Amino acid sequence: MQKSLNRRNFIKLSAAGAAGGFLAGGSNVNAASANNLSAAASNDIIHRTLGKTGMKVPVVNLGVMRVDNPRIVTMALDGGMTLLDTAHGYQNGRNEEMLGKLLKDRPRDSFYLATKVNPRGDQMSVDDFIGQFDISMERLQLEYVDILYLHAQSSREGTLNENYLTALTRLREQGRTRFIGVTTHSNEPEVIRAAIESNEYDVVCPAYNFTMDNYREIKQAIAEAAEAGLGVIAMKTMAGAYWDQERMDPINTKAALKYVLQDENIHTSIPGVTAFHELEDNFDVNRDISMTPGEIKDLRLEEASMGGLYCFGCKECIDQCPHNLPVPDMMRSYMYAYGYKDLSLARETMDSLSICGDACETCGSCQVKCVKGFNVAEKIKNIDRLRHVPSDFLT
Ligand code: SF4
Ligand code: SF4
Repeated sequence: MQKSLNRRNFIKLSAAGAAGGFLAGGSNVNAASANNLSAAASNDIIHRTLGKTGMKVPVVNLGVMRVDNPRIVTMALDGGMTLLDTAHGYQNGRNEEMLGKLLKDRPRDSFYLATKVNPRGDQMSVDDFIGQFDISMERLQLEYVDILYLHAQSSREGTLNENYLTALTRLREQGRTRFIGVTTHSNEPEVIRAAIESNEYDVVCPAYNFTMDNYREIKQAIAEAAEAGLGVIAMKTMAGAYWDQERMDPINTKAALKYVLQDENIHTSIPGVTAFHELEDNFDVNRDISMTPGEIKDLRLEEASMGGLYCFGCKECIDQCPHNLPVPDMMRSYMYAYGYKDLSLARETMDSLSICGDACETCGSCQVKCVKGFNVAEKIKNIDRLRHVPSDFLT
């Protein structure tokens, strides 16, 4: 009889991984034993089919974005997760490199890999887009990926950008990616509907969590995407992980993840993980998505949309700042720093925004009225300091 990967087995497996040389930097996994473990571990995992891609995947997979210990990836795969989510820009490329080293000894049909190209604007040529993907493929040491996303879109226009769709569909035709998708952390319904309209995208990957004030609107757009046959992958499900900047009041992240998965049109999710206990929690959810009354209470649904560190990305504030600061992106960086405690990621996000001078220094009083009630100027002051810290201190 096959055993499930319960808490004790999971800890044993973690220890075995350490003893087996992973701490020394080795990533060789005995393929046969990995497959056996996977078969045993995935026995009781809930799977859903990712729309027309036909990929049958666990409801919780691994967002690799902040993983710097390859053993976490190994444990995720050995435990039965199958979809790894990375991006060209994560950890300045080191994230893809880590995966490349780790995956090269695994059978290619034992995992799914998704990566992303972020054109940051609407000016990237087809060749440049494909050039960025080429670099990703070198780092990943793979012949193909399963999903290639156009990353971080917030409008119909961007989602349907001719250059990007040409690059994506060409790569799909060439078999270098099996499927194409689009991710969005802002204005999600518009992006999802544009993806449907395109008749090209196979997958959408929106931010989706219990604190979002447009949760119902996103849910409706997701239903339309699923109805149209698109695969739907939820991200940012943990909503920043803490209710407060001081990290004294954690969000019940298992409950947050389960809440999203109550929606059967969400085929899978890719929560980011940095520690084994978080992975273990995600495996628990993979086996049981039912919510207890206590978990529902923990989500404080009545006031959730006005609490926490998660910026909706609604962009209501954009036109209010006379200095045109990219406030939603800065708030996302703030969440990375104070919610996830990931200063490198926060700094990378800030650096990508090309802010000149000291933000907010010249303003007597802040003009921005955040719909969520964030004190935007104060948060910017706290996050802007990061730009002046040498990067070496943050890694
Ligand atoms: S204080 Fe407010 S209005 Fe002034 S630059 Fe900062 S965000 Fe913009
Ligand atoms: S800072 Fe507030 S108003 Fe601006 S995008 Fe975020 S939630 Fe919306």
